Amino acid sequence: MRGWWQDFTDLVLPADCGGCGRARTALCEPCRKALYGAVPRRVRPLTVPPGLPVVHAAAPYADAARAVLLAHKERGALVLAGALGEALARAVRVGVHTGVRTGTGAGAGARAGEPLLLVPVPSARGATAARGHDPVRRIALVASRALRRDGVRARMLPVLRQRRAVVDQAGLDARARLVNMEGALDVVPGGERLLATGRAVLVDDLMTTGASLAEAARALRAVEPAQSAARATGAERRGGPGSSAPGCAGTGAGSGAFHRTLAAVVAASPDSFEINRN
Ligand SMILES: [Zn+2]
Repeated sequence: MRGWWQDFTDLVLPADCGGCGRARTALCEPCRKALYGAVPRRVRPLTVPPGLPVVHAAAPYADAARAVLLAHKERGALVLAGALGEALARAVRVGVHTGVRTGTGAGAGARAGEPLLLVPVPSARGATAARGHDPVRRIALVASRALRRDGVRARMLPVLRQRRAVVDQAGLDARARLVNMEGALDVVPGGERLLATGRAVLVDDLMTTGASLAEAARALRAVEPAQSAARATGAERRGGPGSSAPGCAGTGAGSGAFHRTLAAVVAASPDSFEINRN
């Protein structure tokens, strides 16, 4: 059990390991391995909410991975954003590559050189204010940098927002989470044009019931017609619908793109990793 004094010293002194508390290192090697030492896997909650996209996660939400996520999110241990962003980037990469291999998912767009747009799931406004930072956005930004470093065209695109108040999902059961999130998100004005410039990958720090990701995917689908129109306009500008200009994926880039929306998270409930339910 951590004392308040320990939380306090974390903020003012060089941090001990965010995963296990080992001295004089922000994140020790075993904890780093727990966070992103394994190949990210496809995850599914026990009860899959309607509209949940294909989700990949870097680590089960337990032990060191859980401690690191909480230290970053709730205690402002921003030094951990690097490792969390790296974990998220790996989950994005595996999700996209899996899509290429199976002909589903966002992979087709990525193969055509279309940029990946990492769209963070917004946190409850009150939670962001209380924490003094937006952990998911920070992790998404680091992840997009990690992807670019590896030659993947990627950027963070924070186009989702809350259109009504929601309560923090922590402490709600699966059913209450769905109700809490239903219709809670939308795309900011003009966001559909930005979404037309690449392939959206929803990103979050944690998936438990999948309610937030399902709602985020719904919000993206809601602007799909506007996005298709924006793509078509862009294609015309580049020389007609048949244009093979870079950035226009050529096949399947228009309608239906969001039916193949992907999502990636740093961590997911351990039971969601049991993909014998595949
Ligand atoms: Zn450690």
